[in-house]
Amino acid sequence: MMLKFNKNKAYIFNTIQLYRTDRYKYLEQLIKAGRSKDIYIGVKLVRGAYHEQEIQRALEKNLVCPVHTLKENTDKDYDDALELCMKNIDLVSVCAGTHNENSSKKLINLIENYNIRKDDDRIYFSQLLGMSDNISYNTSKAGFNVAKYVPYGPVKDVIPYLIRRAEENTSIAGQMGRELQNIVTEKRRRKSIKS
Ligand SMILES: Cc1cc2nc3c(=O)[nH]c(=O)nc-3n(C[C@H](O)[C@H](O)[C@H](O)COP(=O)(O)OP(=O)(O)OC[C@H]3O[C@@H](n4cnc5c(N)ncnc54)[C@H](O)[C@@H]3O)c2cc1C
Repeated sequence: MMLKFNKNKAYIFNTIQLYRTDRYKYLEQLIKAGRSKDIYIGVKLVRGAYHEQEIQRALEKNLVCPVHTLKENTDKDYDDALELCMKNIDLVSVCAGTHNENSSKKLINLIENYNIRKDDDRIYFSQLLGMSDNISYNTSKAGFNVAKYVPYGPVKDVIPYLIRRAEENTSIAGQMGRELQNIVTEKRRRKSIKS
């Protein structure tokens, strides 16, 4: 589809799950292929959902585990993938689907270091509606592009989906406390202005 439609800019995006041990290499190959075939590359970078199930399935079927089992290895591949995209920004459009504060900061720094405009339409940050609003609102206010991902559908399907997403946000364990604290502090500030 990229070969067919990404001739003038990236319209077709592939999701890349960086918890997979082979995906950083895949991204390198994809970029190489983009250069040789003269097409633009679109990627949504995520760490990857259903991590535990991937490990379980590999164990049950006696397969080589396809995913990293150390969180720091997933984190490294994710951040390296962001850097690779920024290095190749002439070719690559990227949507960073993450609730991780460090990766979001990393992307902000990369955009600055590579002298890319904050609102360059090849780069989007993205978080789920109702999750990590502190990241979405602050990056947006600072002038970066942000897309809120809106899951919709029957309540019986959407609620289990959202619960799974909330459970997967391991980095949020610490962040959630900070996010709540920010809300409490802001409420106090507003009350103090009123009185
Ligand atoms: C806008 C948006 C779109 C998304 N779209 C998709 C999609 O299309 N496909 C998809 O699969 N997911 C998707 N996700 C979910 C995503 O893959 C992550 O599960 C989720 O965002 C949590 O990761 P994080 O980067 O936000 O932060 P973190 O909380 O820092 O990372 C948690 C993730 O780290 C990984 N991890 C956890 N423990 C370990 C460990 N022991 N070893 C190695 N790795 C570990 C897992 O991937 C886990 O989900 C999307 C998320 C967002 C925000």
